[in-house]
Amino acid sequence: MGEWVEREPSYLSFDVYNCAYCGKMIPRHIWFEETDDQRQAFCNPDCSSRFRLARQRAHTEESTDTSTG
Ligand SMILES: [Zn+2]
Repeated sequence: MGEWVEREPSYLSFDVYNCAYCGKMIPRHIWFEETDDQRQAFCNPDCSSRFRLARQRAHTEESTDTSTG
């Protein structure tokens, strides 16, 4: 479960968030979701679900599958 957070424009100049999954810079609307008791920032809910899937796969299988990043 996550939530959208809209940042104040004044924060933009010195504090930048990047999506925990795709690494894209998130300018304004951040999707926050807790994974392993950590609050992560994502550019959208889709990335957060992909992030969780990737972590689950990493736990089950050691081999790294390098698909589109
Ligand atoms: Zn993303």
